[in-house]
Amino acid sequence: MKESVNSESITEHAQKASPNPISFADLFEAVVEAMILVDASGKIVMANATAQELCGYTLNELCKLEVEALIPQRFREHHREYRKHYLAHPRKRPMGNNRNLVLLHRDGHEIGVDISLSPVTLQHQIYVLLALNTVDRCSQAEYALHESQERLWLIKQMVNVGIFDIDCVNRRIYCDERLRELCGNSIDEMDDLIAVVHTDDRARCQAAYDKAINPRMGGEFRVQFRIVQNSDLQSDQQQERWLTIFGETQFEMGKAKRIVGIARDVTQRKQREKKLQQYRNETEALFKQQVAMLTASAIAHELNSPLTAISAYSEVALHALNETPTDCGSMKNAIKSCFEQAQLAGHKLYELLNFLQNNTVESEVLDLNQVIEDALLLARGDGYGDFILVLDLESKLPAVRANRFQIQRVLVNLIRNAVEAMRSARVSVSEIRISVTTLALEKMAMVSIIDNGPGIDPETLKRIFKPFFTTKPTGLGVGLSISRALIEANGGRLWMDPDYKQGARFHFTLPFA
Ligand code: ADP
Repeated sequence: MKESVNSESITEHAQKASPNPISFADLFEAVVEAMILVDASGKIVMANATAQELCGYTLNELCKLEVEALIPQRFREHHREYRKHYLAHPRKRPMGNNRNLVLLHRDGHEIGVDISLSPVTLQHQIYVLLALNTVDRCSQAEYALHESQERLWLIKQMVNVGIFDIDCVNRRIYCDERLRELCGNSIDEMDDLIAVVHTDDRARCQAAYDKAINPRMGGEFRVQFRIVQNSDLQSDQQQERWLTIFGETQFEMGKAKRIVGIARDVTQRKQREKKLQQYRNETEALFKQQVAMLTASAIAHELNSPLTAISAYSEVALHALNETPTDCGSMKNAIKSCFEQAQLAGHKLYELLNFLQNNTVESEVLDLNQVIEDALLLARGDGYGDFILVLDLESKLPAVRANRFQIQRVLVNLIRNAVEAMRSARVSVSEIRISVTTLALEKMAMVSIIDNGPGIDPETLKRIFKPFFTTKPTGLGVGLSISRALIEANGGRLWMDPDYKQGARFHFTLPFA
């Protein structure tokens, strides 16, 4: 059986072989460099104090390890192969062919090292002596930089982001490869970037940039836009990608110097949202149609019998009128019955409306500012968030009393109408202003929603609150009439400014709690 080699037997052997009394272990310890002795099977059999400190293990711990335990996992297999080759032709030489070598410390951090290898034959067995030198600070820093770049690259790949650095003074852009890839173009200047932005989104991009470089606006660069790439130049087919940009501006003496940030490809998410929105719209339209149909048939059902009776009594009245002499008694009875049936019809309609409205509106004390914020989130979630928002809320607004969901519904409806109007008119900058004011005399809060779309001409304006009036190809025309009914059910009023010329300006009021 092969005698197991340990540090004592090696030391003894070295002492016997040596003419002077200095022990092998003493020599081993005296060396400045970290020294590790490894046997042919790769097991560590000796390590001096410097090596123990460098690796973070005690001698006892090291002597239980295979040398590969001191190498990062990713190089281990390769090193085992390398060891076999070395033992086949052992000679004194540096390890790694000038490549950066790394040692794995016990706590997991990696240390850049130079290693030289020397074969040592003791008791007819071959050992390999490793002398380890930590590489100088500069190489260490280079290594750390390389490692952090590699990490950054991996993270960028994982989260699918590109990086940009805009020189605001010269309007030059540095972007990494990923961003170039996303933009499908070489982007060296701001104008190059603007050139690939979808024409509908350019004004929004420019507005976000102007805001970011304005020292009074906080220096945040945040915008979402489409990049248009020519996927197939011959067929002139264009491909759209959605990018979201987050950046932060650095200012120097009150002037924007640079904006550094990331750009993320959100095309897939946008496509999913669009599809979802389409489904939601279709379901909502279907639902509204069914409600309209049911309401119409309920009305028809309620009015059918009084109308039939009125028609019959009218005939009797006509008949009595044509009699000579005129049958005044029958005519009077018939007209009286007509009147009663008409009253009955009105009463039935009133009952039906009461039933439909359920006559009770669950109201609560509400912070109107908060309801507006929630409605904005809902509108965004519904795909109606592509506008610049100017919010003018009143911080000390007293609470109102209303039904939260109904007021949210009205706000979403008005925002949605505004966005649709601006989209269809393809305005260069879509903006919605929402303000809240106090009408102290009336003890009401007033909310105004103002857009910069095409507005509404006086003829159309007369009809917009009528049920089923719409100018949209797929509209149902019940949004405004329902909104008005909901606001009135909550004790307020909803109207549109007829004199406003630059877009549409809707207002509604709600009573304070
Ligand atoms: P729908 O949106 O289904 O058409 P609405 O009752 O909400 O139903 O709106 C009725 C009509 O009022 C719309 O078709 C449109 O012509 C007009 N309208 C509403 N809001 C606006 C707006 N902000 N700007 C321009 N027109 C508007």
